[in-house]
Amino acid sequence: MNKADTIWMNGELVPWDEAKVHILTHTLHYGNGVFEGTRAYKTEKGLAIFRLHDHTKRLLNSAKITMIKPTYSLEELEAAQIELLRANDFKGNVYIRPIIYLGYGVMGVYHVKAPVETAIAAWEWGSYLGDEGLEKGIRVKISSFTRNSIKSTMGKAKAVANYLNSQMAKFEAIEAGYEEALLLDEEGFVAEGSGECFFIVRDGVIITPPHDNSLESITQATVIELAEKLGYTVEFRRITRDEVYICDEAFFTGTAAEVTPVREVDARTIGEGKRGPVTEQLQREYFDVVYGRNRDFEHYLTYI
Ligand code: PMP
Repeated sequence: MNKADTIWMNGELVPWDEAKVHILTHTLHYGNGVFEGTRAYKTEKGLAIFRLHDHTKRLLNSAKITMIKPTYSLEELEAAQIELLRANDFKGNVYIRPIIYLGYGVMGVYHVKAPVETAIAAWEWGSYLGDEGLEKGIRVKISSFTRNSIKSTMGKAKAVANYLNSQMAKFEAIEAGYEEALLLDEEGFVAEGSGECFFIVRDGVIITPPHDNSLESITQATVIELAEKLGYTVEFRRITRDEVYICDEAFFTGTAAEVTPVREVDARTIGEGKRGPVTEQLQREYFDVVYGRNRDFEHYLTYI
């Protein structure tokens, strides 16, 4: 990976190679930690973090859900992310990874007495599903893994433990020769990708599943806002796998994945087997927003 100079750890900027934890870090053993994934783009006016406030708020909401008491306020965490980006000389687009985790001090499942630690790393990171994927679309497999059940985990938290399910699904998809997994919920309806929300387009209508089994995605919300502004009808409703097979277009959205077209699902060609026109338009609009080329969305950008 692309190293940066420093990582923010509990208020200090620590050299990248020295940002370490103890082997008995509680989160490492029992999986209670919460994190964010945020991007900053090189705009014409310099580096700008996209929706910093919303990501930081979600981080604190995740901590609330999993009963971790944050030691920094929303304002402090936002300032820390800005400080980190200013302290590092980034030449390209940046991915920011804040994490609130439980550190070294107590063992055992009861977590409340474990010390709460906060770190923020940032590094230069290109497209998550590949530049070719962004342009031509990716091949997707419906996972044999069911998305985390809301009866036992809490998908509104971007919690470390939730990502075992994502990791196994992603691994299975890659092993089978696909690029990404699409997970169904316990009832068989589409939930989300391993790290993305999912959309289909049918007869010009844009459809995405409700958040029953998925993260409340910031990219998804942005794309919906853009689509509605462009005059599209957007429906939040359940989608079945056979409806995916026969849709006109499909795409993933996520901070890392941005807007990635899907060209094939389980050996069924989606639409024309390439990035569809609605997807292309939304992708273009999304990049205009994050790169500061759409003045109506300037309020989502925090310039460094
Ligand atoms: N679902 C999951 C499971 C994710 O990990 C992500 C990435 N954070 C998303 C959806 C998309 O969320 P966002 O658009 O806020 O990055």
